[in-house]
Amino acid sequence: VLPAPTVVLGDSFARELPELALAWQAEAAPDPRVLVLNEPLATELGIDPAALRSPEGARLLVGNLVPEGAQPVAQVYAGHQFGGFSPRLGDGRALLLGELTDVQGRLRDLHLKGSGRTPFARGGDGLAAVGPMLREYVVSEAMHALGIPTTRALSVVATGRKVQRETVLPGAVLTRVASSHLRVGSFQYAAAQGDVDLTRRLADHAIARHHPHAADAEQPYRAFFESVVAAQASLLAQWMNVGFVHGVMNTDNMTISGETIDYGPCAFMEAFDPATVYSSIDEGGRYAYGNQPLIAEWNLARLAEALLPLLDDDQEQAVALAVESLGTFRPAYSDAWTRSIHAKLGLPEGPVDNGADDVAQPLVGDLLDLMKTSRVDHTSFFRALGAAARGDAEPARSLVLDLAGFDAWAERWRALGPDADAMDRVNPVYIARNHLVEEALDAGTEGDLGPLERLLEAVTAPYDERPGLERYAAPAPDDFGDYTTYCGT
Ligand code: AMP
Ligand code: MG
Ligand code: MG
Repeated sequence: VLPAPTVVLGDSFARELPELALAWQAEAAPDPRVLVLNEPLATELGIDPAALRSPEGARLLVGNLVPEGAQPVAQVYAGHQFGGFSPRLGDGRALLLGELTDVQGRLRDLHLKGSGRTPFARGGDGLAAVGPMLREYVVSEAMHALGIPTTRALSVVATGRKVQRETVLPGAVLTRVASSHLRVGSFQYAAAQGDVDLTRRLADHAIARHHPHAADAEQPYRAFFESVVAAQASLLAQWMNVGFVHGVMNTDNMTISGETIDYGPCAFMEAFDPATVYSSIDEGGRYAYGNQPLIAEWNLARLAEALLPLLDDDQEQAVALAVESLGTFRPAYSDAWTRSIHAKLGLPEGPVDNGADDVAQPLVGDLLDLMKTSRVDHTSFFRALGAAARGDAEPARSLVLDLAGFDAWAERWRALGPDADAMDRVNPVYIARNHLVEEALDAGTEGDLGPLERLLEAVTAPYDERPGLERYAAPAPDDFGDYTTYCGT
């Protein structure tokens, strides 16, 4: 275990892809103070948590103490934002500190968010407020605990600097850990430069880092693209079955690794409705809950376009290959989603037939209709079905309006012999509910981290129901009203 200042960071991204990396320094933080530190993650990274809590550690976590030999960089990328293309985005308020090899030998990016303006900041101030960084911390750690691939949060450190938003707020830096920060937008940037050599080096870097088996395929770049498609199909199925609404699925916010990234206006859906939108800027509902798989596919089509020069010398042939490979998204998503919903209902993986027909498929379709009509709380309802599988239908039944419809449905379902214990292992009790997140962020902004710590305690062991945590399992009270989230704060 290394004391913080001796953390050894690699720079393979900056060395192999200098066109995508701009050497830069974090702004000096007047008074860095650790607000929350992920001790298990620090240990996993081979860093002594106590050292990170020291004054030197806090300076490391805001980018003011750079380990010897490391060179922080702002990464450049492009991206489609709400469907419109920006050829040059990049880290406006973030820096890649470097790559760390964790105790299991895996390469992980150490990345700072809220570390000051970079040349990619455009109109932004380069800063982040305590509240939104705590939001990323708690939601990303909740996602990780749910078993969903995601960037991780190592710490939130208050900088001692004020940030002007609608009001003046305390500033913070989030230290994020990811298997990399390569995005669809990284490829779009290389392609928009018309630089095929850069695109190829980027693809080779991404293959080595995330999809190494693609290197051995007959058509490595095509295999690489299909690996990204598969990773995203699997990720989207997991988002959908936990009711996660990302909120800003721009192509610069979609990773090549298949990890969830960029927790801005995200939220967990309570009342089940595919049209659910939380983000204040998503007026058209482009990134609504039910649209997310389609948007993922759309984003992957943008990745395919960027890769065309690598797929075949004959561009017509390249397009044909890309279309065929993109066609693997829908069946992969559908397969992953079906396996997941079967697990949530305690059913076997594959089709459940009665000798002739798959009876699970209509059963699932009818359930979604029932859930939508009753606007049932997604999380509570699936968890309550576990009790229903044990013979106590009342908790689930009490959540629906159409009682006759539910009873008829439940009879068909119970006839298939659902496995209640298996259900409890995949249907969470505790998610990062919006009203609890807001409560924890408001208190954290005022300097009280108690509510955040208690929320973290609940959501980092989401399947394990514990006494005393009832309020973390309940939907928002009616007076919480319609929830709206905001970007870039
Ligand atoms: P996002 O929608 O959060 O993915 O952000 C899109 C782009 O805006 C990224 O390039 C960010 O680096 C940049 N950005 C967001 N907020 C700020 C800020 N306060 N200052 C500078 N750049 C920002
Ligand atoms: Mg982003
Ligand atoms: Mg963001």
